[in-house]
Amino acid sequence: KSLDQGLEKTKKSLFERISKAVVGKSKVDEEVLDELEGILIASDVGVNTTLKIIERLEERVAKDKYVNTSELNNLLYEEVAALMSENKSEDIQSFDLPTDTKPYVIMVVGVNGVGKTTTIGKLAAQYKKQGKKVLLGAADTFRAAAVDQLILWGERVGVPVVSKGMNADPASVAFDTVKQGIEEEYDVIIIDTAGRLHTKVNLMNELSKIRRVQQKVIEEAPHEVLLVLDGSTGQNAAIQAREFTKATEVSSLAITKLDGTAKGGVVIGISDEFRIPVKYIGVGEKVEDLQPFNKMLFVKSLFD
Ligand code: GDP
Repeated sequence: KSLDQGLEKTKKSLFERISKAVVGKSKVDEEVLDELEGILIASDVGVNTTLKIIERLEERVAKDKYVNTSELNNLLYEEVAALMSENKSEDIQSFDLPTDTKPYVIMVVGVNGVGKTTTIGKLAAQYKKQGKKVLLGAADTFRAAAVDQLILWGERVGVPVVSKGMNADPASVAFDTVKQGIEEEYDVIIIDTAGRLHTKVNLMNELSKIRRVQQKVIEEAPHEVLLVLDGSTGQNAAIQAREFTKATEVSSLAITKLDGTAKGGVVIGISDEFRIPVKYIGVGEKVEDLQPFNKMLFVKSLFD
C-alpha cells in the first residue's frame, strides 16, 4: 500500500468532519477553530498537540485578518508541518543499518497484539533483501502462538530463529540469540519480547533482565529498543508509549495498523510528544507495508 492509501480512512474522516464544521461559513473565526479543536481531539491527535496546533492557527488567523474557510485545510497542513518540523528527531529515510556495529542488536517491545511479530518479520525481510545476515530470537515465550508465529516468519523470510519453545526463560533466549549472533557473525539480531503490562514493576524488571543478559555478550547491546504501538487504538497507543518509556529505555517507535483506521492522527501527537523518533509505520500486512517514517511526507499525505 502507498502511504496515501494507508492513511485514506484517517484523511477522509478528518476532512468530512472539517467540511461539516465550516458548512455555510465563509470566515475562519473562533467558532470554527473551536470546532476544529474538537475534531483534532476526536481524531486522536491528543489534547496537548491539538492545543499547540490551534494556538498556531489562532495566531495565523489574527495575523492574516481574514481567512476564508476554503483555506482552512491548507492552513492546517502548513501549521501541522511547521509544528512537526520543530521536533528535532531525525527521520530515517530507509532501512539502512549503522555500518559500524556488527551485529546490530534490536530488542523489540510492546504489548500483545500490537503487531510486534509482524513488524519483526517485515524488518527481517528488508534486511535479508539487502543481503544482510539476520538472526531472530523468540524471547516472547509466554504465548505459544508468539513463538510459532516468529518461526513462521523466519521460514517465510528465510532467516533462522533461536527458540527454546514456550515458557522458556526469555532472558536465556535473548542470551543465546546474542551469543549465536556474535559467534556466527550475523549482521543484525532482532529479539522479540513478551509484552505484558500487568504491573509496571514487573515489566521493568523483566525487560531489564532481558537487556542485562545481552550485555554479558555484547556490552552495548541492545543497540536499539524498538517499541511497537498499534495506531488503530488511537490514544491508547500514546498511553502505552508513556508507560513503556517510563519502564525502560526506548530508542525508536513503530506505529502499526494505520490502514483500516481513522485514528491515524495519533502519529502526529506521538511524534510531537516524544523526543524518541517514530522510525516505521505499518500500513498493511504485507512485507512492503512497513515503511520508514518521514514526518513531512506523512503530514503531506494526511492534510494536503
Ligand atoms: P504481536 O502480538 O504484537 O506480535 O502482534 P502480531 O504481529 O501477531 O500482529 C497482530 C495482528 O495484526 C496480525 O493479524 C497482523 O497481521 C496484524 N498487523 C500487524 N501490523 C499490521 C499493519 O500495519 N496493518 C494491518 N492491517 N495489520 C497489521
